[in-house]
Amino acid sequence: MYMETQNEMKRMVVLGAGESGTGAAILAKEKGYQVFVSDRGQIKAPYKAMLNQHGIEWEEGQHTMERILAADEVVKSPGIPEKAPVIQELIARQIPIISEIEFASRYTHAKMICITGSNGKTTTTSLVFDILKRAGLNVALAGNIGRSLALQVAYEQHDYYVIELSSFQLDNMYQFKADVAILLNITPDHLDRYNYEFQNYVNAKFRITQNQTVNDAFIYWAGDPVIADQLKKLHPKATLYPFGDENDGHNIAYIESQQLTFGGISDYTPLSIPTEELALKGKHNSYNSMAAGIAAEILHVKKDNIRESLCGFPGVEHRLEYVATVRNVRFINDSKATNVNSCWYALESMTAPTVLILGGTDKGNDYSEIDELVRKKVKGLVFLGVDNAKLHAHFDSFGLPIADTNNITDAVKRSYEMAQEGDTVLLSPCCASFDLFKNYEERGRMFKDCVRAL
Ligand code: ADP
Repeated sequence: MYMETQNEMKRMVVLGAGESGTGAAILAKEKGYQVFVSDRGQIKAPYKAMLNQHGIEWEEGQHTMERILAADEVVKSPGIPEKAPVIQELIARQIPIISEIEFASRYTHAKMICITGSNGKTTTTSLVFDILKRAGLNVALAGNIGRSLALQVAYEQHDYYVIELSSFQLDNMYQFKADVAILLNITPDHLDRYNYEFQNYVNAKFRITQNQTVNDAFIYWAGDPVIADQLKKLHPKATLYPFGDENDGHNIAYIESQQLTFGGISDYTPLSIPTEELALKGKHNSYNSMAAGIAAEILHVKKDNIRESLCGFPGVEHRLEYVATVRNVRFINDSKATNVNSCWYALESMTAPTVLILGGTDKGNDYSEIDELVRKKVKGLVFLGVDNAKLHAHFDSFGLPIADTNNITDAVKRSYEMAQEGDTVLLSPCCASFDLFKNYEERGRMFKDCVRAL
C-alpha cells in the first residue's frame, strides 16, 4: 500500500475541517502539497488553531469555487453528501475525490483492521483495539472514533490501526486495502444518502472487501440475510471467516452449549468461553465478541489475551451502559440506539421486566420490528420527544402503561415510578436525539445525571 511520491506542489483541497479534514490537511502539508481547506459551516476553534499552526490556508461559511476547482485532488469529509453542489461540480470536472482514510493509507505500512456494519461498529472496534493493546501490540484507533488516521500517520509510528469505517468513508475509497475486514451486519440506514436505494448502501458496505487478496481476511456475520445474498453475487478474493450461532462446519466462531467457541483457525486449538463470562452481554454483543476474537486470532494474538479482553472489557459509553441501581431498579443507558434494529438487540438482551424509554427524531422508523419483544419483555413505555404522535399511534393499542414526556428529567421520573423492585429501566430510543438534545452523547449524559439524582 506504500505509494509515496514526489508531489511537485500538487494542489490538495480539503472539504470540511472537522477531525478528519484537519488531519488530512496537516498530513498533505507535511507531504509537500499546497493545501487549501474549505468548510461551508463554522470551523471549531481547536481545528482553526491547528490549521494556523501549520500555516494552512482555510475558509469557513463559504466555498470559493475558483480555488476548489483548481485542485489536483480533493479530500472530502464523510459528512458532506455526494449531492452537495460543490461535489457535483467536482465530479463534473472529473477531479478525483477521496476519503481521509484513503489519503492517509498511502503513507503507512501499518496493518489495517477495518470494521463496518450498520450497528456495532464502535463496540467492535473498541474491543479489537482492547485485545491488541492488552497483547502488547503497537496499535492505534482511527476512523469514526478517536483521532484521525491522517494525523496519526503524520506524526506517529504504529504497526496496527483499528479503524471504524462508516459507509460514507467507504464511498470514497479506491486503492485502500484492509488487511483484516469485519462486516457486522447490514440493515437499512442513511438511505437518504443513497438515493433511497438499499442496494447502493449494501454496495458501499461491501467496498470494505475491495482490493483484498487471498492473504487478507474478510470476517462477517453469516446469519445476516443481506450479507449472505450479496456474497452470492460478489465473490470477494479474501479468505472468508464467517461467524454465527451454529457450529455448521463453516462458522469459525459460534455458540455451543452456552460457550462462545473459536474453532476454525488452523494453528489454534479451540478457545471456548462461557457466554455468562463475556463482558459484553446480549446476543448482538456475542457477535461483536466473535468478530473481534477472530480478528485477534488472525493476528496471532495469544488465546489468553483474547479471553482476558473478552471477559474484562469495560464497555463503551452509551451502548447498553450500566448506570446505577436505585431501590433495586437497574438503569441502563443505550442512548446510541438511534435505530429500531439496535433497540431490538437491547431488548433481546434484557433479563428482567423492562420499562423502555424511547422517542426523538424519527428517521422513518418501522416500530413493528420490536413488537414481539415489547409484548414479551416490556411492562411500561415512556415516550421522550417533541412529537410523540407516531409512537402513540403504534403502541397505544398494546395495553401497556404509557407516559408521555418531552424532557429527560420527567422521562426518568416517570420510568422510575413505573418500575418495581427487580425491574430494569432501559433508555434505547430507536431515534436520533436532535429534537431535544445536541447529540446522543448529551442525551446519554443527561440521562445518567438524572438517574444519579433520584
Ligand atoms: P455503531 O458504531 O455501528 O453505531 P455501536 O457499537 O455504537 O454501533 O452500537 C450502536 C447501537 O447498536 C447500540 O445501541 C448497541 O446496543 C447496538 N448494537 C451493538 N452491536 C450490535 C450488533 N452486532 N447488531 C445489532 N445491534 C448492535
